[in-house]
Amino acid sequence: MSHKCEGAVITCEDFRLHQRMDGRNYIADFIKKQNIDCDLITRGGGIQDLVRPKEQGYRNCLLRDSDVSAKLHKCSVIYLVNHQDCGAYSGMNFTDKESELEQHIRDLKEAGDIVMDNFSEVEVKTYFAYLKEGSEDEFEIKEV
Ligand SMILES: [Zn+2]
Repeated sequence: MSHKCEGAVITCEDFRLHQRMDGRNYIADFIKKQNIDCDLITRGGGIQDLVRPKEQGYRNCLLRDSDVSAKLHKCSVIYLVNHQDCGAYSGMNFTDKESELEQHIRDLKEAGDIVMDNFSEVEVKTYFAYLKEGSEDEFEIKEV
Protein backbone atom coordinates (compact mmCIF):
# COMPACT_ATOMS: atom_id res chain seq x y z
CA MET A 1 0.00 0.00 0.00
CA SER A 2 1.24 3.47 -0.73
CA HIS A 3 0.02 6.96 -0.01
CA LYS A 4 0.29 9.91 -2.31
CA CYS A 5 2.31 12.84 -1.05
CA GLU A 6 2.82 16.06 -2.98
CA GLY A 7 6.39 16.93 -2.12
CA ALA A 8 9.63 15.86 -0.48
CA VAL A 9 12.27 17.83 1.38
CA ILE A 10 15.90 16.76 1.42
CA THR A 11 17.77 18.60 4.14
CA CYS A 12 20.42 18.27 6.83
CA GLU A 13 19.75 16.33 10.00
CA ASP A 14 21.17 19.24 12.08
CA PHE A 15 18.97 19.61 15.17
CA ARG A 16 18.97 23.40 14.82
CA LEU A 17 16.71 23.07 11.76
CA HIS A 18 14.19 20.71 13.35
CA GLN A 19 12.02 20.38 16.46
CA ARG A 20 13.57 22.38 19.29
CA MET A 21 12.84 22.30 22.99
CA ASP A 22 11.55 25.87 22.76
CA GLY A 23 9.08 24.98 20.01
CA ARG A 24 10.98 26.30 16.99
CA ASN A 25 11.07 24.07 13.90
CA TYR A 26 12.39 25.78 10.77
CA ILE A 27 11.83 22.83 8.42
CA ALA A 28 8.28 22.24 9.68
CA ASP A 29 7.57 25.95 9.17
CA PHE A 30 9.10 25.73 5.68
CA ILE A 31 6.83 22.80 4.76
CA LYS A 32 3.75 24.59 6.10
CA LYS A 33 4.66 27.59 3.95
CA GLN A 34 4.68 25.40 0.81
CA ASN A 35 1.11 24.45 1.72
CA ILE A 36 1.56 20.80 0.73
CA ASP A 37 2.32 17.55 2.55
CA CYS A 38 5.97 16.52 2.27
CA ASP A 39 8.15 13.51 2.92
CA LEU A 40 11.18 14.50 4.98
CA ILE A 41 14.58 13.07 4.04
CA THR A 42 17.38 14.08 6.39
CA ARG A 43 21.08 13.51 5.89
CA GLY A 44 24.20 15.00 7.46
CA GLY A 45 25.20 17.67 4.93
CA GLY A 46 21.83 17.73 3.18
CA ILE A 47 22.40 17.15 -0.54
CA GLN A 48 26.19 16.92 -0.22
CA ASP A 49 26.08 13.13 -0.58
CA LEU A 50 24.61 13.58 -4.06
CA VAL A 51 27.44 15.76 -5.35
CA ARG A 52 30.40 14.70 -3.20
CA PRO A 53 29.76 11.33 -1.54
CA LYS A 54 32.63 10.01 0.57
CA GLU A 55 31.53 6.59 -0.64
CA GLN A 56 29.39 5.82 -3.69
CA GLY A 57 26.87 4.06 -1.46
CA TYR A 58 26.00 7.35 0.24
CA ARG A 59 24.72 8.81 -3.05
CA ASN A 60 22.76 5.65 -3.83
CA CYS A 61 21.20 5.73 -0.38
CA LEU A 62 19.96 9.30 -0.85
CA LEU A 63 18.69 8.47 -4.35
CA ARG A 64 16.89 5.45 -2.92
CA ASP A 65 15.09 7.63 -0.36
CA SER A 66 14.21 10.10 -3.13
CA ASP A 67 12.93 7.19 -5.24
CA VAL A 68 10.42 6.29 -2.51
CA SER A 69 9.13 9.88 -2.56
CA ALA A 70 9.10 10.24 -6.35
CA LYS A 71 7.78 6.82 -7.35
CA LEU A 72 5.90 5.37 -4.37
CA HIS A 73 4.48 8.61 -2.99
CA LYS A 74 4.25 10.28 -6.43
CA CYS A 75 5.78 13.54 -5.18
CA SER A 76 5.74 16.21 -7.86
CA VAL A 77 8.27 18.56 -6.27
CA ILE A 78 11.48 17.95 -4.34
CA TYR A 79 12.88 20.76 -2.22
CA LEU A 80 16.63 20.75 -1.59
CA VAL A 81 17.49 22.72 1.56
CA ASN A 82 21.11 23.20 2.67
CA HIS A 83 22.12 25.47 5.52
CA GLN A 84 24.81 27.86 6.69
CA ASP A 85 27.39 26.65 9.25
CA CYS A 86 26.85 23.00 8.25
CA GLY A 87 29.21 20.63 10.06
CA ALA A 88 29.47 18.43 6.97
CA TYR A 89 31.00 21.39 5.11
CA SER A 90 33.39 22.42 7.89
CA GLY A 91 36.30 20.58 6.25
CA MET A 92 36.17 23.11 3.40
CA ASN A 93 37.49 25.83 5.72
CA PHE A 94 35.59 28.72 4.16
CA THR A 95 37.28 32.05 4.69
CA ASP A 96 34.06 34.05 4.53
CA LYS A 97 30.27 33.73 4.31
CA GLU A 98 30.27 34.55 0.59
CA SER A 99 32.51 31.62 -0.40
CA GLU A 100 30.47 29.30 1.85
CA LEU A 101 27.26 30.44 0.16
CA GLU A 102 28.76 30.08 -3.33
CA GLN A 103 29.79 26.49 -2.58
CA HIS A 104 26.32 25.59 -1.33
CA ILE A 105 24.63 27.19 -4.34
CA ARG A 106 26.94 25.29 -6.72
CA ASP A 107 26.19 22.05 -4.85
CA LEU A 108 22.42 22.70 -4.79
CA LYS A 109 22.34 23.32 -8.56
CA GLU A 110 24.41 20.19 -9.25
CA ALA A 111 22.26 18.12 -6.86
CA GLY A 112 19.15 19.47 -8.60
CA ASP A 113 20.50 18.26 -11.95
CA ILE A 114 21.22 14.82 -10.46
CA VAL A 115 17.71 14.56 -9.00
CA MET A 116 16.12 15.63 -12.31
CA ASP A 117 18.29 13.14 -14.24
CA ASN A 118 17.00 10.36 -12.01
CA PHE A 119 13.39 11.49 -11.61
CA SER A 120 12.35 13.30 -14.76
CA GLU A 121 8.77 13.68 -13.52
CA VAL A 122 9.63 15.87 -10.52
CA GLU A 123 10.25 19.58 -10.25
CA VAL A 124 13.27 20.58 -8.12
CA LYS A 125 13.50 23.74 -6.04
CA THR A 126 16.64 24.80 -4.18
CA TYR A 127 16.77 26.68 -0.89
CA PHE A 128 19.35 27.83 1.61
CA ALA A 129 18.87 28.34 5.35
CA TYR A 130 20.76 31.51 6.26
CA LEU A 131 21.75 32.16 9.85
CA LYS A 132 20.31 35.42 11.14
CA GLU A 133 23.00 38.04 11.72
CA GLY A 134 24.76 37.39 15.02
CA SER A 135 22.88 34.16 15.75
CA GLU A 136 24.18 30.60 15.82
CA ASP A 137 20.81 28.84 15.63
CA GLU A 138 18.16 31.12 14.12
CA PHE A 139 17.59 30.50 10.43
CA GLU A 140 15.80 32.11 7.54
CA ILE A 141 15.15 29.82 4.56
CA LYS A 142 15.24 31.47 1.13
CA GLU A 143 15.08 30.16 -2.43
CA VAL A 144 18.44 30.26 -4.23
ZN1 LIG B 1 24.27 20.46 8.37
